Amino acid sequence: MLVLDLNNLRTMDTEAIVIRIKTPSGDMDSAVDCPSLLNFNDLLVAIRDVMPEATVTAFEYEDEVGDRITVRSDEELKAMLSYYFNTMNEQRINGLLPDPLQIFPRAGKTPGIRNIHGLKVNTRPNPANDCTHAIPDSMANNSLKKSSAELKRILTNGQINAQDIHYQEQLGHGNGGTVYKAYYLLGKRVLAVKVIPLDITVELQKQIMSELEILYKCDSPYIITFFSAFFVENRISICTEFMDGGSLDVYKRIPEHVLGRIAVAVVKGLTYLWSLKILHRDVKPSNMLVNTRGQVKLCDFGVSTQVHFSQMFVLYQMSQEEYPAALIISFFFTQLALGMFPYPQIQKNQGSLMPLQLLQCIVDEDPPVFPVGQFSEKFVHFITQCMRRQPKERPAPNNLMDHSFITQFNDGNAEVVSMWVCRCLEERRAQQTQGHV
Ligand code: ATP
Ligand code: MG
Repeated sequence: MLVLDLNNLRTMDTEAIVIRIKTPSGDMDSAVDCPSLLNFNDLLVAIRDVMPEATVTAFEYEDEVGDRITVRSDEELKAMLSYYFNTMNEQRINGLLPDPLQIFPRAGKTPGIRNIHGLKVNTRPNPANDCTHAIPDSMANNSLKKSSAELKRILTNGQINAQDIHYQEQLGHGNGGTVYKAYYLLGKRVLAVKVIPLDITVELQKQIMSELEILYKCDSPYIITFFSAFFVENRISICTEFMDGGSLDVYKRIPEHVLGRIAVAVVKGLTYLWSLKILHRDVKPSNMLVNTRGQVKLCDFGVSTQVHFSQMFVLYQMSQEEYPAALIISFFFTQLALGMFPYPQIQKNQGSLMPLQLLQCIVDEDPPVFPVGQFSEKFVHFITQCMRRQPKERPAPNNLMDHSFITQFNDGNAEVVSMWVCRCLEERRAQQTQGHV
């Protein structure tokens, strides 16, 4: 990782890049001698020179899956350049000539049709993207992306072949597997590949299959995208979307306005899974991933259980404790806010196993104490409510979205998380560079 990042810093300072401005009348290439000095306004001026008739206020670039990302500020420009330098390095490592950085100007409305009276439109979240609404059973089934038969076909034939994957750095190692960043040569995209040896217990093999089937069904902006899986000798490799911000366990003391938005995404992700009758039994910071676009996604459902709707219904009716979502969320969010394990009397590795001793601790011990003045009343109230000793007094899983701490951050503002991720990554790079000078 260090080698790549140092290369990035060096190339940003010393190597000219070509920015290709895509306009309706054709492409316009501009050479930028020192990309690290480029700012958003300079680039906007260059675009306006090329498209004098349009009112351009922002531009977009495409990520590895072809999604358009808007750039409206210096911070976002930096994120774009960092993404581009990574792509460029990857193309070079793989013997390819780097493509120019393509940007797509976004024209605003012409002055004649501007809303001069300042009329406001009552905007509502798009129900298709909003997983806070209860999804009826039939709709939940319709939202399943692909069929099990298709999954079997892919597992047998393999959509992605092992030889088309170029492994790069190791991202981490967990129970049973190792995760790598990898480049998929044919698809020209970066992936996260989890490689799991199969000389493991039958129980663990079942968990892996369960994880695959669940990943395959999911189609939500809050759940990691599954691309493919293949077997080689005694290993299974699971290819998913790569999240360039990594997992939350490596972030220290997440500020409340960021944590609130992360909480919204986690609750929506879990709500989506619940709508598919899936209980994520391994919710923890290392399974919450972030990226520089400000997205937050859940991964690793290896120990999830799919239950019948009726069971789920009974479970919710009879005992919230079968799935103590409020406790789990409040526990980890306390940890992320404080930057430390809230119950020092429990060893951290037990914390990663979650439930019994930990829940016991939450129930037996006094709730964690927050330093005075550092956290809002809403946040402390949310955590305190979620950690009430009596299960009935805690918010039910489906009501987590209703607490004022969560609702205030349910504004779809990905920029806050995006800027925070970019800043943390930059700080980490700077520390690594200092440590190696
Ligand atoms: P467990 O096996 O109990 O889930 P874990 O989550 O720490 O533990 P892994 O799931 O193997 O272990 O993941 C190891 C690390 O790889 C994670 O901590 C995370 O930082 C990183 N990682 C996993 N998936 C991705 C991904 N899609 N994009 C980027 N980083 C990832
Ligand atoms: Mg994991």
